[in-house]
This record gives sequence, structure tokens and C-alpha cells, in this order.
Amino acid sequence: MNKLIYLDNAATTKTAPEVVEAMLPYFTEYYGNPSSVYDFAVHSKEAVTKAREQIAGVLKAKPEEIYFTAGGSESDNWALKAAFEAYKAKGNHIITTKIEHHAILHTCEYLEKRGAKITYLDVDENGIVCLEELEKAITPETILISIMFANNEIGSVQPVKEIGMIAREHGILFHTDAVQAFGQLAIDVDECNIDMLSSSAHKINGPKGIGFLYIRKGVKIRSFVHGGAQERKRRAGTENVPGIVGYGAAAERAVNTMEERTAKEIQLRDYLISRLTSEIPYVKLNGDPVKRLPNNVNVSFQFIEGESLLLMLDSYGICGSSGSACTSGSLDPSHVLLAIGLPHEIAHGSLRLTLSEETTKEDLDYTVEKLKEIVQNLRNMSPLYEDFVKKQK
Ligand SMILES: *Cc1c(COP(=O)(O)O)cnc(C)c1O
Repeated sequence: MNKLIYLDNAATTKTAPEVVEAMLPYFTEYYGNPSSVYDFAVHSKEAVTKAREQIAGVLKAKPEEIYFTAGGSESDNWALKAAFEAYKAKGNHIITTKIEHHAILHTCEYLEKRGAKITYLDVDENGIVCLEELEKAITPETILISIMFANNEIGSVQPVKEIGMIAREHGILFHTDAVQAFGQLAIDVDECNIDMLSSSAHKINGPKGIGFLYIRKGVKIRSFVHGGAQERKRRAGTENVPGIVGYGAAAERAVNTMEERTAKEIQLRDYLISRLTSEIPYVKLNGDPVKRLPNNVNVSFQFIEGESLLLMLDSYGICGSSGSACTSGSLDPSHVLLAIGLPHEIAHGSLRLTLSEETTKEDLDYTVEKLKEIVQNLRNMSPLYEDFVKKQK
């Protein structure tokens, strides 16, 4: 068996042992329902309160502005659908980008069928939105700007503070999908004028199936799940107490380790980028070289199918991800790679490797060695590459 080299931390992360440890008593010992009145349930209620405070602290928000959900997708759905409904009297126009996660894009499509007008902003070749274009897109009907903090595929980090300023100047709500940014980058919701923010625990070494939506006090927004009075009557359902506890622990851990962890990741990220782009021919880095998530590497190998690359890497115990979407039943390459202007054939040959705090230089050296072999082998089998080589001669 090969050693597992997990380089898909943008898809999900390992739950940290201390997070699991913090969660365990809330399965076994303190299993009470936080809404119950007896003393035994106080443990559960207090644990939820503490986690809410831990998370609010990370964002410099108030605990009562944090609403727990079942993950990033739910938070994104809630922010968009509820804002659309609550601000109907003002207008029906929402501005977003072409590189959002599908939790945003597919929600926008859903809202379009219900009368919303959506502007999908272009991004530049590094995956960054243009502020002038954002301003130009604003109309008197605009009720919401939803732009992700950092992209999950190519890692580009948006000028969130400037976007927030524009939104505030025009009196428009600003939502950001910060699922990739929370715990990786410092976020201050006041400084960035963020009105709503989505996040998910399993992207920061927390458990799966728990997220939150930050909703600034004063923002009019509808309940998402109707039922009991949980989450200040806005999101009904018995709280996922162990999940919430784990999220709080993961958030605190992420903040405490952020400086050291991300400094190390940036160093390894740039090392990997530099080796890949200098030692393998016909490789292109996707995303911004500087305004980039600390752990994200995304490259395109010309004349190669990303899917084949992934399968070969898997046979060596290396987990990565690709911008080619054959596995999801679609022949179209990633919408993000197309939005930064990659031609289809180059987008198909892309590979995303996302590091964790546990990633070592040795892991990356092994990965580069294997990639050099695999890329050469796949190219040798490629008729496109054969043609290309012939033309070169
Ligand atoms: C993972 C991810 C989501 C979805 O979060 P889930 O908790 O898996 O539903 C949304 N947006 C971005 C940017 C993500 O990376």
C-alpha cells in the first residue's frame, strides 16, 4: 500500500483529533436537547452558546449574528433565497460572479425562474472581479451583491473590502461565500462591510454537515427552515450539538494556528508551483500568483485529460482534484477555468492540489516525481501531443 498523500483539502479536511475529542461528550454524556428545561440540558445549551461565541470572535461579529446551518450549501441557499424574498419591494436584481460555487450559481438559476434578474460578472485572467464593472452593474433594482471571498478551484482572493465599500455606498446588501476563506484568511465583517457570510466546518478541520450563516443585525431576512424556535426562530430544528461544538473548537484552532500554518503552507505552495512549472513543459498556473489561498495550487497540463491524471495519481496514493468534469456526468470543463479564459482543451487538463498543515516537502517531492512520469506517459499516448511534436520539428 502506498502512503496516502491527501492533497484535496479544498474538497474536505481531516477532522482534527482535538475537535473530535471536544465533540465526543456531546454524543455520549451530554446528549440533552438544548431546548429542554431540566438541568441536564444546560450542558448542551451552554456548549452551543460557547461555540457561537468562539465563531463570532473569529469574525469580530456578535454571537447573536451567527446562525448554525447544515453546511456551506445551505448557508448560500438561505442568504440568496431569503434576501430575494425579503427585499422584493426594493427590487429583483442580484449581482454575482461567473466563478461562484454551484451552491450560489444553481440558487441564482432557481431564483431567475422566480423573477430574479442576475448579473454574472466576468473575472480577469487571474480570477479577480473588476470593481468598475461591479459598480457599472448596479441599478436602482439591485438588492444584493454576492461575491465569494476566495475561490475553491483556483484559490483567487477577491478585493472583499472594496466590494463591501461599494455595496455600502449604494445601500446594497453584501453576501460573501467565505467557505474557503474562513480560518485561512483574517476576516473582519465590519471592516469589510459584510452583511452575510457563509462558512462550513468541514473545510477547516471540523466535522461535516455543519455550517453557519452570519447575518448582520438589522438585515431583513426570512426564516429558512420553519418549525421550532431554534436559532432565534430563523432556522428551526434541534441543534446539531456535537457538530456545533466541533465547529467552535475547529474555528478557535484555525485562528490560533493561522499565522504559522498559513506561512508554512504558502512556502510549500510556492515550492510546488515552482517545481511543477519549471520541471514539466507546457504547464500553466491557474489563478492569481499572489492574491491566492495559502494552500491552493491549480495548474493545467497541455495535451492531457485531468481525469486520467487523477486516476494515475490515485494509483500512487495521491488524492487531487481536476477541473474536468467527466465524473460528474458533464463534458463541460469547470465553469471557473472557462471564466478565466482557458480554452476547453487546456481546462480539461487541469489539476488542483490543496495542501494542509500536515503536508510535507517530501509529500510534494514525491508528487512532483510521480507527476513528471505520469504527464510524460499520458502525453506519449496523446495524438494531440504527437501532432504538436511533429509540427515543432
Ligand atoms: C465546499 C464549498 C461550499 C459547500 O459547502 P458544504 O458545507 O460542502 O455544503 C460552498 N462554497 C464553497 C466556496 C465551497 O468551497
